[in-house]
Amino acid sequence: MYEQVLERLHLEHDLRHALSHGELQLFYQPFFNLADQQLVGMESLVRWQHPERGLILPGAFISIAEDTGLIVDLDKWVLEQACRQFWLWQQQFQGAANLILSVNVSAKTLKHPSFLHHLSRIQQQYPLGRGQLVLELTESIALELGSEMLSLLESLRERHIEISIDDFGTGYSCLSYLHSLPIHHLKVDRAFVQQLEDNQRNLKITKMILVLAQELGYRVIAEGIETHEQLHILQRLGCDYGQGYLFARPMPAEALASLLKAH
Ligand code: C2E
Ligand code: MG
Ligand code: MG
Repeated sequence: MYEQVLERLHLEHDLRHALSHGELQLFYQPFFNLADQQLVGMESLVRWQHPERGLILPGAFISIAEDTGLIVDLDKWVLEQACRQFWLWQQQFQGAANLILSVNVSAKTLKHPSFLHHLSRIQQQYPLGRGQLVLELTESIALELGSEMLSLLESLRERHIEISIDDFGTGYSCLSYLHSLPIHHLKVDRAFVQQLEDNQRNLKITKMILVLAQELGYRVIAEGIETHEQLHILQRLGCDYGQGYLFARPMPAEALASLLKAH
């Protein structure tokens, strides 16, 4: 336990340094229309290039950033970098005009007093089309934001930003509650997608999420598609979009640019 605490302290210290010394980097993972396999958009995913430890994945530092409040600056940095890059691609590639940029944002960031102002500044600097910028919020966000939730989401809608519920199915929110909020996309958690072939329960849950989401007018993205079999099941169920290693892993900006060129 002592070693774990010490390790966390070290990472916390290093993370403060990382933010101000350019050690963070963005990867992008594309997602596709399952009906015709056309590129629909991309999600930004942060990476930490640690000078001694090498590449660190967000699973090892996002929760530390959240506990220490560093997440606000981290998310703001990510949002700015991703919007700048995506805006540059809009100038460079004709076909990029109908693509979506999806950015993960923590509840702490969303409710921070400086966030909406930061967002407005970025939108002025890197103007994108209506609905091109999507913010991914996890299901538990409703619990963390409480009564502020509706007004915050409304102010995002006024800015033509769409909302996606990430890791859907792992929390305790119900669709009837979510439906009272201005939400556009649901991302079915990869825990359901990854056992679709041989787990009847997961298949039934995914089917149910899809039927309800379609009735309620949400676009559904399946996360973590790794096999052709999973893809075929999701296509058969009428899932709109998909993301996963079967299509592409998260990649640096230069690699994504090659994909855009082909698109
Ligand atoms: P997420 O938003 O649900 O992102 C999807 C995660 O699944 C990514 O992990 C991605 O690399 C991984 N993934 C994608 N396809 C597959 C697949 O086919 N199989 C498997 N096994 N995994 C797949 P990553 O990049 O390690 O990110 C983990 C989480 O960290 C994200 O989950 C998100 O919650 C958080 N995160 C990442 N970037 C940011 C950020 O800028 N801000 C905040 N607040 N959170 C972030
Ligand atoms: Mg996400
Ligand atoms: Mg997710």
